[in-house]
Amino acid sequence: MKHRSHLPEQERAARSKLSQLLRDKPFVAGSLVKMARTCGKPNCKCAKGDKHVSWYLAIRHKSTRKMICIPRARQQEVMEWVNTYREVTSLIAAVSQQCLERLDIPGGKKERRGDS
Ligand SMILES: [Zn+2]
Repeated sequence: MKHRSHLPEQERAARSKLSQLLRDKPFVAGSLVKMARTCGKPNCKCAKGDKHVSWYLAIRHKSTRKMICIPRARQQEVMEWVNTYREVTSLIAAVSQQCLERLDIPGGKKERRGDS
């Protein structure tokens, strides 16, 4: 008799971590980008090369890319959201790989057909 819960240890660990993240943690599909710019005021420090640094959250929505300026006070928080999202996607990839290995169907693999 097969136990349905008999998953490989690796997959069980990934699933458990994944569900914990999904349950508790905020995450965002994007990446943080640092940009340095000058403001244009001739007497400002940026005119001498000490540019204003600000962080943006770059997100893709359908085919367009959006940049959202992140206030300094929230940078750490957003950085964690981005990291959590990366972790979620890598855990999903790990579970997917495990499932793929279980999908062991005889003759189910599609071979690339040669030209004939
Ligand atoms: Zn300036």
